[in-house]
Amino acid sequence: MEITKIVIPTPYDVGDVNAFLVKGDALSIVDAGPKTQEAYEALEYGIKNAGYRFDDIEQVILTHHHPDHAGWVDAFPRAEILGHEYIDHWMKKNEEFLRYREAFYEMYLRKQAVPEENIQEILSIRRNLELYGNTPLTKYIQDGDEVPGHPGLIAYYTPGHAQSHLIFHDQKTKEVIGGDLLLEKIASNPLIEPPVDLSFDRPRSLVQYQASLRFLATLDVAKLYAGHGNEIVDVKGLVKERLQKDAHRTNQVYEILSEPKTVYEVTKALYPAVYESQLGLTLSKTQGYLDVLVKEERVRCEQMGDQEFYSRI
Ligand SMILES: [Zn+2]
Repeated sequence: MEITKIVIPTPYDVGDVNAFLVKGDALSIVDAGPKTQEAYEALEYGIKNAGYRFDDIEQVILTHHHPDHAGWVDAFPRAEILGHEYIDHWMKKNEEFLRYREAFYEMYLRKQAVPEENIQEILSIRRNLELYGNTPLTKYIQDGDEVPGHPGLIAYYTPGHAQSHLIFHDQKTKEVIGGDLLLEKIASNPLIEPPVDLSFDRPRSLVQYQASLRFLATLDVAKLYAGHGNEIVDVKGLVKERLQKDAHRTNQVYEILSEPKTVYEVTKALYPAVYESQLGLTLSKTQGYLDVLVKEERVRCEQMGDQEFYSRI
């Protein structure tokens, strides 16, 4: 697999995002940056440097639907757009889906006992979808599929950070294009998202994410090309490190539950300095640790009215 990395600026805290030109039987690009002018210029420069133009690209393959990865699907006039089918909801943005998504978040923020004014604030931030692309997928990729145009490149469904998340493993070179499953410098956040079946049953994102990391550690990987930052060689070592850090945080949450608490209360205790400025993110992280504790049968969750309370078993 011939891989060329293109580094693209984003307006997000995470900093730059990577896209990868992959030359096989087809010329593909994996991920496409956020839909900003700066990102377009970086993409254009990177593609030109590799000897191509936008209309030479035959396939845009998406690792997941987040806007720093799925913005410039609109820039490739001749390309097929490939990814997990969940991504299509964000490309199409139809009214019914947007209403469902808002109702989903509203219900969970209430369950977490978030104050009403913060609920409205988080919902209004989530309504902003302008850095997403608008081109619907032309082909869906499922777990275990071989990627069209790239013999031996196998897609694996790895949910947790995103409900649409795929990684791509080259069986011959043992290289992986890993999206945001594993990043060198930062822990990837298991965000609360609506489930793939668009029900109101919340995915346990951190539980899913840890299972995806353990799966990655079972693959034979020579090098992982990450969605942000540098390539990773010691995948198994870094997976172990991430899981250990999660276990430590999970035990801290257990300690905080000396009496029954809501997710909002645990979030305040766990992230006293940043919970106000980064409420959506810190709620997602806390919810994740609580989900792990429930799965491990160390903690139970009981609903009272429209709020949920967590307590030690
Ligand atoms: Zn990302």
